[in-house]
Amino acid sequence: MPQYTPPIRDTRFVLEHVVGLDRHANVDGFANATPDTVDAVLEEGGRFVAEVLFPLNQVGDQEGCVRHDDGSVTTAAGFKEAYAQFVESGWGTLSAPEAYGGQAMPHVVSTAFQEYMISANMAFAMYPGLAHGAIAALVVKGSDEQKAKYLPRMVSGEWGGTMNLTEPQCGTDLGLIRTKAEPNADGSYSITGTKIFISAGEHDLTDNIIHLVLAKTPGAPDSSKGISLFVVPKVMVGDDGSLGRRNAVSCGSIEHKMGIHGNSTCVMNYDGATGWLVGQENRGLNAMFVMMNEARLAVGIQGLGQSEVAYQNAVAYAKDRLQGRSLTGAKAPDKVADPIIVHPDVRRTLMGIRAFNEAARALVLWTALQADIGHRSDDAGQRQAAEDHMGLLTPVVKGVLTDRGFANAVEAQQLFGGHGYIEEWGMSQFVRDARIAMIYEGANGIQAMDLVGRKLPKDGGRAMMGFLAEVQTFIKDHGEDSALTPYTAPLQAGLNDLQAATMWFMQNAFAKPDNAGAGATDYMHLFGLVALGYMSARIAKAALARQAEAASDRMAARLVTSRFFMERLLPETATRLARIKAGADTTMALAAEAF
Ligand SMILES: Cc1cc2nc3c(=O)[nH]c(=O)nc-3n(C[C@H](O)[C@H](O)[C@H](O)COP(=O)(O)OP(=O)(O)OC[C@H]3O[C@@H](n4cnc5c(N)ncnc54)[C@H](O)[C@@H]3O)c2cc1C
Repeated sequence: MPQYTPPIRDTRFVLEHVVGLDRHANVDGFANATPDTVDAVLEEGGRFVAEVLFPLNQVGDQEGCVRHDDGSVTTAAGFKEAYAQFVESGWGTLSAPEAYGGQAMPHVVSTAFQEYMISANMAFAMYPGLAHGAIAALVVKGSDEQKAKYLPRMVSGEWGGTMNLTEPQCGTDLGLIRTKAEPNADGSYSITGTKIFISAGEHDLTDNIIHLVLAKTPGAPDSSKGISLFVVPKVMVGDDGSLGRRNAVSCGSIEHKMGIHGNSTCVMNYDGATGWLVGQENRGLNAMFVMMNEARLAVGIQGLGQSEVAYQNAVAYAKDRLQGRSLTGAKAPDKVADPIIVHPDVRRTLMGIRAFNEAARALVLWTALQADIGHRSDDAGQRQAAEDHMGLLTPVVKGVLTDRGFANAVEAQQLFGGHGYIEEWGMSQFVRDARIAMIYEGANGIQAMDLVGRKLPKDGGRAMMGFLAEVQTFIKDHGEDSALTPYTAPLQAGLNDLQAATMWFMQNAFAKPDNAGAGATDYMHLFGLVALGYMSARIAKAALARQAEAASDRMAARLVTSRFFMERLLPETATRLARIKAGADTTMALAAEAF
């Protein structure tokens, strides 16, 4: 049976010593996040996911969701009861605004809990996850009436939420949307069209589902500038909040897919459904981006979450499975063979995943902290720097953490040999579940293009210069400390590669955009390696400072892990830079007919 223990000690270490929660008392809501409260969230939340959600992970995978003739969908056995417990305990309300019944805790705290939920049961976590994206869009773009009508019950978890962008002919290129929104006399709109691949589109967990739908009004420009956002409830809501008639929206079918079987992925038919405009007409993409940025970070966390649970299982197996003898003499002479954890190649795999997970957790929490500062700080300069950071790092967290998260799940599966390939041990599910994170919320190739094409040049490169300066300052401030040199020296080499790649794009991509397109994915990963390397160095710094404490074994382990990152993972920046500098010539030389 697979196992999972929420890494509470690691989270706490990052929150306290790497991102330094206590240094941000000026940010609204941080007063609520006393060490005791944060501990309670991690401990109680960890217990909930381990005891309630994780045991349902394989159930959801095996049973999937079932659509009935009347269009209703039932989730796997136990999901409904677990969701009721989730709502009852208020886990979905942690960082939601108090005005709508939330607890207004920092986003960074709920992000820690989110990682645990995703590791325990990614398909389940997506139900409240999608609702959160919809909540974020309504908070920022909704009218007062829409907020009052929908938000309190979405925040509590009583109602679900979805995002409806994709259509059969339109995925990445949203300008191709065909769903129509015809104005009605009473100010509402009549929505008609088909959306596909809609996560949590229909299910039995909640009484109502609030769909956010992209559609085009009559005469709107035939491009992404002609898209508007609409709120379309599954069940109509009266002014007094009561539930009325069913709206003309239904689930036509559910997809049979590679992973996340426990989450219903629906074809949604809108047959003149009643909806209301959210924000301004033709500004729908702008409104949807609020939701997508939040969702992209959440998808990045899916990469980390699957990497972590796959790692924990691989460690347990590697300690237990007896095969071969250590190269340096038997380590378990009383047994028929040594456990495979003695073999350097097995260690290489485990250390690689572990080093990534520790750095990625810090990167996720650091980025979530920037979201808090960007939204809630009382200092305008701090807010701008944090927003720059968020914009720049969002495609990196989404693209890099999910690419590596999937790769790590495969590596962890490899340690099981043939036992990883059969379903019994659960490794196959982690691999299958992790795969989708590279695709949805904008395929990773698109994240790379977003980084290179939009985020880098934005505001004259201000965000990028801020990031480079921050890492450089860290290296400079600690360059004289010989205990930190094994971390700062490789980080400097990685940073040099990132600067060289950025410069190369500036000199070679404007005149020839294919150079940017051909190097974008390598650039995103180069950037990710430096960002993760920076986190790893900060972990090392914090661990060194705490080495004298009672937990010195754990601190020593963190130092070794960070050093492994510097020696074994970070040098990949040089390869990425070489590929970027090769440009687009050979990539684009062959005519399409030659393939
Ligand atoms: C399980 C699942 C759940 C989903 N949930 C939702 C949901 O809740 N709501 C929703 O609206 N959608 C959802 N989606 C849809 C998902 O977001 C899209 O599948 C994804 O954005 C890619 O769109 P596409 O499949 O049409 O691929 P396409 O857009 O056709 O892209 C195909 C390939 O071409 C590449 N490509 C396309 N354009 C470019 C370009 N300009 N430059 C470089 N490369 C390019 C892409 O990177 C990709 O690799 C879900 C999908 C799945 C499978």
